[in-house]
Amino acid sequence: MKKYRSAIVLFVVFEAIAVSLWLATGNLFYLLNFTYIGTCLGVGLALKAAGWHYAREFIQFGVGAYMLVFLGLICRENMQIEGFWYYLLSGVVGAGVLHYAIAKIFGPLLFGRGWCGYCCWTAMVLDLLPYRQPRGPRRKIGFVRYIVFTLSLVLVLLLFHYGKATSHTMFVLFVAGNLAYYAFGIVLAVLLKDNRAFCKYVCPVTVFLKPMSRYALLRIHCDEEKCIHCGKCLEVCPMEVEVNNNSRQRRNATECILCHRCTRECPVKALR
Ligand code: SF4
Ligand code: SF4
Ligand code: SF4
Repeated sequence: MKKYRSAIVLFVVFEAIAVSLWLATGNLFYLLNFTYIGTCLGVGLALKAAGWHYAREFIQFGVGAYMLVFLGLICRENMQIEGFWYYLLSGVVGAGVLHYAIAKIFGPLLFGRGWCGYCCWTAMVLDLLPYRQPRGPRRKIGFVRYIVFTLSLVLVLLLFHYGKATSHTMFVLFVAGNLAYYAFGIVLAVLLKDNRAFCKYVCPVTVFLKPMSRYALLRIHCDEEKCIHCGKCLEVCPMEVEVNNNSRQRRNATECILCHRCTRECPVKALR
């Protein structure tokens, strides 16, 4: 049972959030939404603990597709960064703001960039491309994320300024934004031969995710006494993290998405 502990804990935490928000707001949506996400995470982590190779992908599709199709396209909640600005500037603490607070702003202090490894609907598609392991050096173009981040805020401010910030506009932006992210993400992945190039250089959400995950409680640790410096963990890491170094200053320290490819490859089980 011990190996299933984190699956059970996570499910219970999500169920507690589900029930608390339902009781506080009287809105059944919160109960169903957080129960569904908690179940995907709990079942997926249990499958991972049982050794199923595709457990991460199971969670990624379960949560990612639900958020994109059900919340985004059917319920018309804009969960992109523009939606976050829109709800924030409207003073509405709805699903979009809660989503950012839990998954992308405060949650990363606990679980780092777990969102990026297990739930993101953009990465859900990018991870299907054939360049899991980046083929080439990391580019020095990370500044692009700050430009995209600023543009997203300016765009929403302009919509408010011109009285066009309506829920319909935000829905159109959600569809257009996702199509643009997918198109750009795929082209970039093919050009740079790196599935996660979009995550590394362009995604505006990393402006929140990276600084918060620097202090994450949940991290991959290396038992440096066991490590034989074979470099296998570095070869398989999709985010090019120097994971066999425990320092917070390690190269790409804020990039780990907790996918655990490195822990599976380590021949001496030095990573956990
Ligand atoms: S960096 Fe952005 S696109 Fe990539 S997984 Fe994280 S949130 Fe998704
Ligand atoms: S391979 Fe290891 S270090 Fe790299 S992102 Fe996955 S969990 Fe993090
Ligand atoms: S795979 Fe394991 S032994 Fe090899 S460098 Fe990484 S941590 Fe060390």
